[in-house]
Amino acid sequence: MTYRPTAEQLEAALSFHGHICPGFAYGVQAALLCINRFGRHHDAELVSLVETDSCGVDAIQFFTGCTLGKGNLILKDWGKAAYTFWRRSDGQGFRALQQRLEAPELTQQIDRLKQESPSPEREAQLKKAKTELAHAILAAEPESLFTIQPPQREIPRPERILTSLTCQACGEPTMESRVRLFDGHPYCIPCFSGVDQKS
Ligand SMILES: [Zn+2]
Ligand SMILES: [Zn+2]
Repeated sequence: MTYRPTAEQLEAALSFHGHICPGFAYGVQAALLCINRFGRHHDAELVSLVETDSCGVDAIQFFTGCTLGKGNLILKDWGKAAYTFWRRSDGQGFRALQQRLEAPELTQQIDRLKQESPSPEREAQLKKAKTELAHAILAAEPESLFTIQPPQREIPRPERILTSLTCQACGEPTMESRVRLFDGHPYCIPCFSGVDQKS
């Protein structure tokens, strides 16, 4: 049976994300593809690699249980609306590459509004059109919104807990796998790249 979120679950996901928008709706549908293949899990059984940091990722975290905090959501800021999912127990996986929903009137309206100079009316119209588009995306079949491909890489290994080293500049403990060495001494990434974190 295909899994569909209840109205309550959708409402809870929306309050997690903060607003309804097309990106969130695509994320819900990507999550549904994953759940319908691999089942629902709340541990770290599922692993996701997302290639964008946009709205859809919140829906994926909410519905699949792949979260940044658990380490089973890997974020690559590549600006691509593509989501790869794996199931650890059998290593099965797929990559879902997002396709635009065929809704020419709404998408043209949104494109047109985006080019107009900002005004309260434009904002209201844009919000209305985006909400309508989001609902249209949510009403579509998940399979119609994505091209499904094999994963482009191996399932990521769980991150090992490594020891911490003390950054020579700020003195803060830093995961060994993240330190950069300069002149034989360990530095955290922000110190190494000269970013002033204290401002
Ligand atoms: Zn959003
Ligand atoms: Zn530092």
